[in-house]
Amino acid sequence: MMAYRVLLLCLLLCAVPLTTTTTTTTAQEATPLPPPAAPAPVALLQGPGVTVELFFEQLQQGTMGLVRATGDIAEGRVLFLNRQYDFVRLGEAWYAFVVAAIDARPRDYTLSILLRSSAGTDSTFDRAITITSASFLNLNFSLPADRAFLTDPEVERNEFARLDVLIDAIRPERLWSAEGFQMPMQGEIISEFGQYRVLNQNVQTRHTGWDQQAPVGTPVAAMSRGEVVFADRLDIRGNYVLLDHGYGIFSGYAHLSQVNVERGQTIEKGQIIGLTGNTGRSSGPHLHWEIAVNGEWVDGMVFLRTWLPGEGSGSGLGSGS
Ligand SMILES: [Zn+2]
Repeated sequence: MMAYRVLLLCLLLCAVPLTTTTTTTTAQEATPLPPPAAPAPVALLQGPGVTVELFFEQLQQGTMGLVRATGDIAEGRVLFLNRQYDFVRLGEAWYAFVVAAIDARPRDYTLSILLRSSAGTDSTFDRAITITSASFLNLNFSLPADRAFLTDPEVERNEFARLDVLIDAIRPERLWSAEGFQMPMQGEIISEFGQYRVLNQNVQTRHTGWDQQAPVGTPVAAMSRGEVVFADRLDIRGNYVLLDHGYGIFSGYAHLSQVNVERGQTIEKGQIIGLTGNTGRSSGPHLHWEIAVNGEWVDGMVFLRTWLPGEGSGSGLGSGS
């Protein structure tokens, strides 16, 4: 285990170029992911006229879990880890997208579900949910002198605060396409979600997305249908596009050399939103992409493998069933 860790650390460090280098000939293309299949619930809770299905018993740090409720429901919410998640109606059922924050301490937490019927009767359910450690890596990075000002903790705080306002704004409609989400491009993965990073022995930060190597100018595709809520320059993320897919789901694309879209525009899944680059706090040309759900950054790769409800009668997005 230890040897594996050391090797992985080395690979990740070596893979992030400090200066522009030619594309490696051993680059692995990201394999297209099969569409997620509709899962079976792992727990069933029943009250008068309502059924609640949980699709998880534990959540890894930085991942999302689904709660489904059916029956006579006028409104409902889930309380978990100091956040409130409103149930949204998709087809015949109500869903809540619950998140284990990237920095949540691994232990058991109470998840509370509150449902109100059309007649005003309340049902409540409590369930213990374990948050498990994702064993995120610790990495030290060096930034070139001309970008060293970007290791100011104030710059870091300001940018996250600016984005938090956007990813906390929940649009009460589904914009994502019926075929779900896809990777924004092909390309070797050079850095994972969740890492603790220390930059120039100064700022400490978390890696909120995934990095893929790409020569400057590689087209970047929208991961699903959504509305552009940000298309501008940020200190750390450089030229950045943030898409709102509805019901609290967002995708972000950073360090772009060119942005093709404007705020307010609706973008179709697969539409080219810009070109990869090396802008912002970046140490080499690559794409950083990230997913937020209900105000928390989540592991985008896990998200891509997670079944999401469509608008039909509970059939999965792209599940083909
Ligand atoms: Zn990144």
